[in-house]
Amino acid sequence: MIIVGNGHVVTRDSRNPYVPDGAVAIDGTKICGIGRTADLRKRFPEASFIDAKDGVIMPAFINTHEHIYSAMARGLHIEGYAPKGFLDILDGLWWNMDRHLTNDLTYLSAMATYVECIKSGVTTIFDHHASFGEIKDSLFAIGQAAQEMGVRSCLCYEVSDRDGADKARQAVLENEAWIRHAQQDTTDMLAGMMGMHAQFTLSDETMNLAAEHKPDGVGYHIHVAEGIEDLHDCLKKHGKRIVDRLYDWKILGPKTLLGHCIYVNAHEMDLIKETDTMVVHNPESNMGNACGCPPTMEMVHRGILTGLGTDGYTHDMIESYKVANILHKHHLCDATAAWAEVPQMLFENNAVIANRYFKAPLGVLKEGAAADVIVLDYTAPTPMNEENIDGHILFGMTGRNVVTTIANGKVLMKDRELTTVDENALMAKIREGAAVLAGRINGYL
Ligand SMILES: [Zn+2]
Repeated sequence: MIIVGNGHVVTRDSRNPYVPDGAVAIDGTKICGIGRTADLRKRFPEASFIDAKDGVIMPAFINTHEHIYSAMARGLHIEGYAPKGFLDILDGLWWNMDRHLTNDLTYLSAMATYVECIKSGVTTIFDHHASFGEIKDSLFAIGQAAQEMGVRSCLCYEVSDRDGADKARQAVLENEAWIRHAQQDTTDMLAGMMGMHAQFTLSDETMNLAAEHKPDGVGYHIHVAEGIEDLHDCLKKHGKRIVDRLYDWKILGPKTLLGHCIYVNAHEMDLIKETDTMVVHNPESNMGNACGCPPTMEMVHRGILTGLGTDGYTHDMIESYKVANILHKHHLCDATAAWAEVPQMLFENNAVIANRYFKAPLGVLKEGAAADVIVLDYTAPTPMNEENIDGHILFGMTGRNVVTTIANGKVLMKDRELTTVDENALMAKIREGAAVLAGRINGYL
């Protein structure tokens, strides 16, 4: 047993939202008590103790849209790469990269991403993977890394026709194999979805193939209307808007996650809402690619289950929170916008999304919930309580304030030190892998 105590406990449980001088008791993979530190230590005298040193104890973060395959892009130089817009960025950078990823490099990309997740207090991710250099077993390579690093992962491979029908088929089969494998997982740490890149790289034949091979009980994870080009393509080729096409292919539903949804109209939002489909917003990525600002506030107000992700741009959910907060204020010319909606997306909706795939309650500290707990090194300069905690997080913290990360009852980081791997040795290996990838992309390896 473990007690994490001497902290300000933020539970996200409305019945008991905030415990000053609080503690969380963990038994195995679950939380078994929340209360005052002294009380819990008396109740569980045999438990080992992690001292939060008057910092903040809260549920670990959930990231509902990640891209492990992008890990080795940081600082990458590609000869002749001079993108003029979003499609050039996809083609010249991301698709170029993923064509050179073999499973050994996919594994290292996953390890790199998981290190940053743990160091930012993220213990559950929904990843959207591509490695057209080696498709078969790529999700299993990530799954291996997920298990080694202890991060709960819902994985999928982004099926696309961009490298031909044969590779699209392999991608569908990889999703199917992974989903069936994850469905046998008894640890509640692995899950799978049928990943799809975006409708503009998916023919009707491939849509059909994916539908035929999708096991029951899971949905799709697909980019929707990230760029205006995606909408134009759909109108031109199929004579309908994107969400209509997905609806016609029965892709929408409570288990399906739509990334972005920038160019969706009121009718499409109605379809998303009626089918209880999930949406994930990635503010930094949308801004970085100059793709536009999605109608996220409207989607939340309409009751669409909208979560917050990072699209691989960062692995720090507080960073995503900060940027979503100002993006929508700026976009709507309304300084009062987004105060409540973004924390709702991050702290409530991401948990609801995650629990459509994982059984143990996530994103909350209460008895019986998953023991996914983080400690942040934060000393409040003003009074802190359940009413204003989000203001303290938004303006006072970043992912780097996370000092301790626990997932499924296992301590993955303590006092900023990873407990399961030698971080420096691992990073050296990942840098070697990144050099190999850069060499392949630029044609000298
Ligand atoms: Zn994405």
